[in-house]
Amino acid sequence: MISGDEKKRAENEATFRDANERIREAERELEPPLDRIPYICECDDIGCREPIRLTAPEYERVRGDGATFAIAPGHPSEGDVLEQRDGYLVVQEPDGGGEVARALDPRAEDA
Ligand SMILES: [Zn+2]
Repeated sequence: MISGDEKKRAENEATFRDANERIREAERELEPPLDRIPYICECDDIGCREPIRLTAPEYERVRGDGATFAIAPGHPSEGDVLEQRDGYLVVQEPDGGGEVARALDPRAEDA
């Protein structure tokens, strides 16, 4: 059973993920490429615009699972913290939210 709150939260994170996917696309065009790219924190705070810096391979790893997100340390998330990295945390949406997050994953279609 997916609660309205869970759905809203997952949709919020998916919105930031879409913005970050555009940042990733723009980054591919850069010459020379950046070492660490400023992405937007994907926490539960809808007003959050905190930049978090990930390398391209780090970002790709987070995006590898449609239910994982990268957030700034100390920012709100109902997800479970999977990893504490340098300057960001990798969180995984729990059950219901994870399903919504995976359903909204723009990369899921080509899987
Ligand atoms: Zn945040």
